[in-house]
Amino acid sequence: MAPAAGVSTGIIRFRKRPVRTTGTRSLWLREELGNSQPYEYKHFEGHETTDVCIVGGGFTGLWTALEIKRIAPGTDVTLVEADICGSGASGRNGGFALTWWAHFSHLLRLCGPDDALKLCQRAERAVQQIGEFADANGIPEAVQMSGWVWAATNAKQVGDWEQTLELLEQFGQTPYQRLRREEVAKLAGSQQHLDGVFEPISASIQPAKLARALARAARDAGVHIYEHSQVAAIEYGPHTSVVLERGSITTDQVVLAVNAWAAQIPQIGAGLMVVASDVIATEPIPDRLAAIGMDRGVCVSDSRRLVHYYRPTLDGRMVFGKGGGALAYNNLITAKFDHPGRRTAMLRSQMIRTYPTLWDVPVADAWSGPIDYSLSGLPFFVRLRDAPSVVVCAGFSGDGVGPSRLAGEVLAEMATGIGDGGMPKALRTVPSAQLPPEPLRYIGGHLVYGAIVRKERAEDLNLKPRRLDTLLASLDPTG
Ligand SMILES: Cc1cc2nc3c(=O)[nH]c(=O)nc-3n(C[C@H](O)[C@H](O)[C@H](O)COP(=O)(O)OP(=O)(O)OC[C@H]3O[C@@H](n4cnc5c(N)ncnc54)[C@H](O)[C@@H]3O)c2cc1C
Repeated sequence: MAPAAGVSTGIIRFRKRPVRTTGTRSLWLREELGNSQPYEYKHFEGHETTDVCIVGGGFTGLWTALEIKRIAPGTDVTLVEADICGSGASGRNGGFALTWWAHFSHLLRLCGPDDALKLCQRAERAVQQIGEFADANGIPEAVQMSGWVWAATNAKQVGDWEQTLELLEQFGQTPYQRLRREEVAKLAGSQQHLDGVFEPISASIQPAKLARALARAARDAGVHIYEHSQVAAIEYGPHTSVVLERGSITTDQVVLAVNAWAAQIPQIGAGLMVVASDVIATEPIPDRLAAIGMDRGVCVSDSRRLVHYYRPTLDGRMVFGKGGGALAYNNLITAKFDHPGRRTAMLRSQMIRTYPTLWDVPVADAWSGPIDYSLSGLPFFVRLRDAPSVVVCAGFSGDGVGPSRLAGEVLAEMATGIGDGGMPKALRTVPSAQLPPEPLRYIGGHLVYGAIVRKERAEDLNLKPRRLDTLLASLDPTG
């Protein structure tokens, strides 16, 4: 049949390599799955028709599915996941569910005061809604509203938040409490913390438990979920078809909630840098953590560009992560995005610098995951230029646990045609910058990354970074 006039037709092909590159699973996922492989949801086979097909079973896809069922219960929703729900960033992250108040000055620049305030309020509400979901779905222990400390662990970082706090105060907002040095050291559990602020509305979560509970809730709400079902292509035209290895799904709307894997679509990849974030966890040491006061569940981040983030677990482990561990060549997610490998030792030494009393505690677990760093540092929500039946959200930039709840509302409205989810135009556009093509992009990325590492190491030692490193570090397009 000839396509209707004015309707563009074409195909978006995804890379053939399996999304799951190695057998590595995060501590969170293994804990939740009880060390067994669940085949809770069958793989997709055959030919089906659905109203909305969601690709990706992380927080974004799952919240979107639930939200569609809430706002338009008659909509038939199918979700396909290449691996298992929660196997991507959603089951591997540090478990910090944060608001967007820390991004306020950036949002203000991008979309003006009204939208910036509204978005920050919605992102704060999103964190509370995650807690409400956990309570209502029998996993209250998976979400603890224990707050977040935004800290300085060297002199250069002191006061990093001041500009944001002052700006917020001008708009009558006081989401953070200023702490005295003794208070921050006590809350964060070590004297290495020189200064900081505390945000009470932030949660420490067991992310895999949340992801698996979201999948069960979506299934109970009538969403058809398929795992081990990797999408190979999307054919668009008068009809849209999601093509899988063993069949296809004809649909009105596609929601691509594949996070860093969306970078392989040129329109989306132009606004993203794919980098790894690495995490280590110690053996359970509840008494040691209690002794330093790090047993309250508080999440802590420092203020470096390649951020360190850390928190205790319910069973008394220290979880310590670092952003920006590896760069993707040509936006390709490979095995180095599953495990930090040799970077593990560096992470451990950073943990010991932050918590010197843990010098003898071995690392029991390590894992990594891909981060969809957007050039604006914020997620964006777009319809593909050539394929308007395909809605994409990407760009959480390592800060998606809380905001993915909000993203679900936006994507649900876009996919059902109800609206644009209240997103201002600035967040409905792929951010752009003049980046060189590969291999220059990769080589340049490594030069900048190396300079940031050296600059931050010098700052930890209270030394003046080399001018060349400062210059190169300033070229970070996501900075
Ligand atoms: C190590 C690490 C630490 C982090 N720490 C934090 C933190 O503490 N706080 C915070 O706010 N954010 C953090 N993040 C980011 C956060 O985890 C994500 O932004 C958030 O989980 C949103 O995920 P998502 O659902 O968009 O993507 P994902 O959870 O990655 O889901 C995308 C899914 O799409 C699937 N997929 C990909 N391609 C296909 C295909 N072709 N067909 C079918 N399925 C496909 C993948 O298998 C995956 O399950 C961290 C991320 C990492 C990696």
